[in-house]
Formats: sequence, structure tokens, C-alpha cells
Amino acid sequence: MTGESSDCNVAVIGAGPYGLSATAYLRAASVETRVFGEPMAFWEKQMPAGMYLRSHPMASHIADPKQELTLDVYCGKSGSPVPKPVPLDRFVDYGRWYQGQAVPDLDKRHVRSVEIRSGGFRVVMEDDEEFTARRVVVAGGISPFATRPAEFSGIPSALASHTSEHNDLRKFKGQRVVVIGAGQSALESAALFKEAGIQVEVIARAKALNWVGLHARLHHLGLISKVLYSTRDVGPAGISRLVAMPLLFQKFPRGFQDRAAYRAIRPAGAGWLKPRLQDVPITLGCRVVSATTSGSRLLLKLDDGTDRLVDHALLATGFRVDVSKYPFLSESIVKQLNVKNGYPLLKRGLESSIPGLHFAGKPAAWSFGPLLGFVSGAEFASTELVHSMTRKNGN
Ligand SMILES: Cc1cc2nc3c(=O)[nH]c(=O)nc-3n(C[C@H](O)[C@H](O)[C@H](O)COP(=O)(O)OP(=O)(O)OC[C@H]3O[C@@H](n4cnc5c(N)ncnc54)[C@H](O)[C@@H]3O)c2cc1C
Repeated sequence: MTGESSDCNVAVIGAGPYGLSATAYLRAASVETRVFGEPMAFWEKQMPAGMYLRSHPMASHIADPKQELTLDVYCGKSGSPVPKPVPLDRFVDYGRWYQGQAVPDLDKRHVRSVEIRSGGFRVVMEDDEEFTARRVVVAGGISPFATRPAEFSGIPSALASHTSEHNDLRKFKGQRVVVIGAGQSALESAALFKEAGIQVEVIARAKALNWVGLHARLHHLGLISKVLYSTRDVGPAGISRLVAMPLLFQKFPRGFQDRAAYRAIRPAGAGWLKPRLQDVPITLGCRVVSATTSGSRLLLKLDDGTDRLVDHALLATGFRVDVSKYPFLSESIVKQLNVKNGYPLLKRGLESSIPGLHFAGKPAAWSFGPLLGFVSGAEFASTELVHSMTRKNGN
């Protein structure tokens, strides 16, 4: 196939929840679509084994146009109830099952580059095959956006690594580890370390930990709960409803959107983690001011004047969107894109300032709000894509 060229209408890059869902919706609307990438690779390779989804099962369905491929249907077929919380390995299996049902002809190859050419885009695959696509949907996830605090620059990854570099934390057996951060990923990693018998301490700048899901009562008040919470399950009472309506959310003043988005996605742990963290030392209100190697170990100095000599620092320091970091986007695309703080500015249909180039998932969150950073935002994203591509002359 090397060097062979064929045309396609829509090329979707990425086979996580957003790419799979978008493809299922577009095909159901008779939009010819090809999708590329390893299915659910980020979840399988860049999250720790033993993890549970923080999102509620009702917000962990990968949207499909007929609602025949929900998590409930998948669990029903395998004869077991939907687990709560949902274990990571079940979710990966679910995503693969979804892919087998909705997109059996998924092309698992990696896309190497995308550049503009007249009437669309030139897409080059990892094996040099190239083709043209009228439209490209980037559903490449957040992996390239992992953030590493400046204090750790220059420290080898054997001593300080980002959470997304691991899928099995048991490899740190016998080591002394610190986890930097106060969000779900930090707290769950610490619990997994402790349960594997690994000596761990959490260090975070936050003065107090935030927890979600501790107000179960509020979810069982019938109509009142429905008014307060959306089934999309992003954000606290009230904000949850607003965030679930991206076209309304984007109409609010920017300052309000930013505050509501922060409130919806601020670092927080799921309530069910609390008991698993008993006996884990957690140092709050503290910043690492320097990290240096000391023999084969890592010496951390904190701003409270104390030191830690450890074997490894796990950086649960999150992801900061910067679409210029997608390695497959050509320089000229990156130059021409209108961006704000690293996010592409998108209009209806998730279409960027470059006609025919769309972004689904977290990069769409600047334009459409925090829902787009979660699996439960895929329905909105997919229906927007269909809407824009099936309008007159859109297809
Ligand atoms: C630790 C952790 C826990 C999380 N837990 C939850 C949760 O409980 N619930 C929730 O809703 N969200 C959760 N999230 C957020 C989650 O990342 C997003 O909801 C979800 O991944 C979005 O799906 P996606 O399809 O945009 O991205 P991904 O699932 O990351 O899929 C993107 C895919 O694109 C592929 N790709 C990238 N570049 C190329 C290329 N050049 N060619 C081909 N393929 C390519 C990648 O390999 C990847 O498989 C969590 C995130 C993290 C880091």
C-alpha cells in the first residue's frame, strides 16, 4: 500500500471515545468516514492498571446514534451488572467492543502528518501511504499535553515521570515515591502505591483536598436532583446543568465561563478514594522549589523548608492543551489556526479557523466548555459534526 493515494471524505484521527463516536454518527448519517488509530490506546497504555473511572457509569457511555452501544448494553451482553465505579479494564474492553460493533474496519495505523492542500487535506500514514481528505476531525486526545512542572525539567524520567507515562505502578515496588498533585490521578495513584506496599507521600500546593460525590443524598431527590444535576455528570449542582448545554454555556461572558469551568473540573478526588488513603501521608499547602539528583535518588526541597530524598517523583500535574503539540499537524496548519491559550477557536460543527479542520474532545473545551473534556461530551461533539457535515454542501 506504500505511497498509494485514494480520496476520502472525512478522516478521523484517533480511536478513543470521541473518534469512535464521531465515526459512528457520521456513518449513520451517510457521511463517508475513515478512522485511524489504536482503539482506546490512551486508556490502556497511559492510565494505571487497577484504576477506576471517576465519572459515574451513567456518564461513561460512548455515545452512538441509536443508543444500542451503551455501557449498560455491553454489560448486559456479558451477563454482569454495570459496576460502580467502573474499573478501567472493563471500560477499555467496552470501548473495544464498541469499536467492533460500530467501526469494525478501523484502520489501526498512526497518522504521521496532515497538511492543507487544495480542496482539503493531504494525510500521510506511518507507512508512507498518503491520501486526500475533504475534512479532517482531530480526535487525538490529551496525551501530548502532559505538563511537567519547571522544577523537574532536566530530571531524567527514571527519577521523575508524568502519570501518563505509566500503565502499571507496581514497577515501583521497593522504592520510596512522592506523588505531586491533588487531583483524582494523584490521589488514586497514591492509593494504588499504598495497596501495592510501596512507600508513598502526596505533596500538593492545594491547602485542602476537594472531593466529589460526597453528597449522594442530593442525587436522590427526584425532580430536584434532575434540576440540579445533568446525567453528563460534569460539575457540581447547578453548574452541572449548564455545562451539559455547550451551546448555551458558550453564550455566557468569558469570565463566567472560566470560573464555572474551573469549578467543574478543579482538582478533586472521588469520595470513594477517601478510605483508601488512610495512612497515606499527605502534605498540603507546599510547593516543590527544587529537584536535583543525589546519587541514584532525587532530592526535593519544599517551600516549607523541608527536604525529601526519594527514589521517584510521580507528577500527577495534569494536561495543558496546546494544539501545536499534536505532532501530525503541519507547521502551516499550526500557523494558520486561530488559537487562544493553546485551544483552537471553534465554531459550530467544532470547525476551526481552517475550513474542514475540526477538533473533538478536550481541545474543543475553550469554545464549548468543560463537557468536551469528558466521555459524556462525545454525544454533543458527534451531533455537531453531523450537523455541520450534512448541511447543504457540507457533505
Ligand atoms: C487518568 C485519567 C482518568 C480519566 N478518567 C476519566 C473518567 O473517569 N471519565 C471521563 O469522562 N474522562 C476521564 N478522563 C478524561 C479522558 O482523557 C477523556 O474523557 C477521553 O480520553 C476523551 O476521549 P478522546 O477520544 O478525546 O481521547 P483519547 O481517549 O485519548 O483518544 C485519542 C486517541 O487518539 C489516538 N491518536 C493520537 N494521535 C494519533 C495519530 N497521529 N494517529 C492515530 N491515532 C492517534 C491516541 O492514540 C488515542 O487513542 C480521564 C483522563 C485521565 C488522564
